[in-house]
Amino acid sequence: MAPTATAAAVGRVTALGVAACERDVEKLEFIEEMTKNFDAEQVRVLAEILARNNGAEYLRRHGMEGRTDRQAFKARVPVVTYEDLRPEIDRIANGDRSNIISSHPITEFLTSSGTSAGERKLMPTIEDELNRRQMLYSLLMPVMNLYVPGLDKGKGLYFLFIKSETKTPGGLPARPVLTSYYKSDHFKHRPYDPYNVYTSPTAAILCTDSFQSMYSQMLCGLVARTEVLRVGAVFASGLLRAIRFLQLHWKELAHDLRTGTLSARVVEPSIREAVGEVLTKPDADLADFVEAECGKDSWEGIITRVWPNTKYLDVIVTGAMAQYIPTLKYYSGGLPMACTMYASSECYFGLNLRPMCDPSEVSYTIMPNMGYFELLPHDPADANAKPVSARDDPPPRLVDLADAEVGKEYELVITTYAGLCRYRVGDILHVTGFHNAAPQFRFVRRKNVLLSIDSDKTDEAELQAAVERASRLLAPYDAGIVEYTSQADATTIPGHYVVYWELMVREGGASPEPAVFERCCLEMEEALNAVYRQGRNGDAIGPLEIRVVRGGTFEEVMDYAISRGASINQYKAPRCVSFGPIIELLNSRVVSKHFSPACPTYSPHKK
Ligand code: AMP
Repeated sequence: MAPTATAAAVGRVTALGVAACERDVEKLEFIEEMTKNFDAEQVRVLAEILARNNGAEYLRRHGMEGRTDRQAFKARVPVVTYEDLRPEIDRIANGDRSNIISSHPITEFLTSSGTSAGERKLMPTIEDELNRRQMLYSLLMPVMNLYVPGLDKGKGLYFLFIKSETKTPGGLPARPVLTSYYKSDHFKHRPYDPYNVYTSPTAAILCTDSFQSMYSQMLCGLVARTEVLRVGAVFASGLLRAIRFLQLHWKELAHDLRTGTLSARVVEPSIREAVGEVLTKPDADLADFVEAECGKDSWEGIITRVWPNTKYLDVIVTGAMAQYIPTLKYYSGGLPMACTMYASSECYFGLNLRPMCDPSEVSYTIMPNMGYFELLPHDPADANAKPVSARDDPPPRLVDLADAEVGKEYELVITTYAGLCRYRVGDILHVTGFHNAAPQFRFVRRKNVLLSIDSDKTDEAELQAAVERASRLLAPYDAGIVEYTSQADATTIPGHYVVYWELMVREGGASPEPAVFERCCLEMEEALNAVYRQGRNGDAIGPLEIRVVRGGTFEEVMDYAISRGASINQYKAPRCVSFGPIIELLNSRVVSKHFSPACPTYSPHKK
């Protein structure tokens, strides 16, 4: 749907639509300029990055000293993965302040949700990267205003959080990219913008205690319930957690509204002060309303019942988050879901120029001023493709974004101002078209991710290692695992991993006690990566579940796959299932279910 001029839209007509205000005109024209001159801007950005980091050890080592041209860059600089850069990253983390990858000082590490050897990857970043992130954020509302008029007449209820941070052995902060952004002056001292007024006080966002933060954000959201025009979180899983929180705490919240006082469980003085400015008086009507709505048996449409003027949900529901679309539809009564941007710890990439489109149609337009981008052709059918590594000589032929072919899939490769050169992000993108000269991409998936509930990403090798570790607990019972598969169960809040086990028990032997399987659940969780274990220790991921299926189940799964055309010679049990009929088959053969009885160990200080 193209944006149309409405009576409310008093701004100027731009190529993207009718701008809501003068500031938006400037931003929309900037998008047009960038996307029209896409390749020229990419050449400029690459030259700027190379000129800046010319003296850094990494580019010198690859024969780029004094060179800023694309041709030399492509011929000499290898395509790398995180593992290839590990020695450089470790040196920086350990305190080597020489110009290793960048001529600008590395100011902090951003802890990615991608892991290496079970721990979060550390992405080096520099001071001025914050300006680029801020720039991309500043484009989002002007685009949204094209489609949803009147957003300056109310507020956004956004559930935003920070996490605790650590320091590397060399003393650099290590924290998630959003924690870094919310704690920056860019966010804390942002100028007033009528199109971007949040109900959450900044003090509540900047609290690492997730209960105090969520409680006060929810309370302020309830106070402003009729003013709220959009409800959001970064990812869909986060918004569902907020709904779950409301389910658990509405009585206490209603009590606070009735008395006009903040729960004693919120102790942080800055939050108490900020909430005090919002919760200024007792409001019995609002308390009655919250109790009446939340006390109903059905929570269908709860978002629009509590926040009746909500026009859309602002959450990412692409990629792994697509699994939450049905649940969000249920709670929101089918509100549109806007996926506004595509970004990572390494670099922010781009935005969705049609944010109100259906989630299945979301395409992101990469902004050419954020970094230098290339594409590694990816053939989904070619599972045996030769892996590309830093040792490849010469570097593989990558495609420039301007030359992307519609309909093809590629892996994104980036070169950043902070000094990552030809770095493989691991995201697979499908080219859907162009806006001016800028290619637009559907996010297909992250490579090698089998299971994901929140920001956790578990690959096949990690699941295999976890199953092997847990299966050792069965040995004393003369039992073993014949076959297994898994599923990310998004129907619970929070979602959780389900692992189906078919067992082999010694003839005449008894199946192990339920307590043994519970220990197996926890053992698997202990074996999973740090992002998973952190999610379990917060409220992002629920306890892992083992479902024991009866003997012969996996043979039935195989028969089913073969009946649908799988080759009997090549058949391997899938390690993760998402296809409804197979999940139904597995669930109909379950003989017992067991949940992890405790949280696995997690320490943010372990690097
Ligand atoms: P992180 O490094 O933890 O910041 O995670 C970044 C990754 O999250 C990206 O590389 C993508 O795999 C994923 N991601 C970010 N934005 C989106 C989006 N809009 N849709 C789907 N996946 C996304």
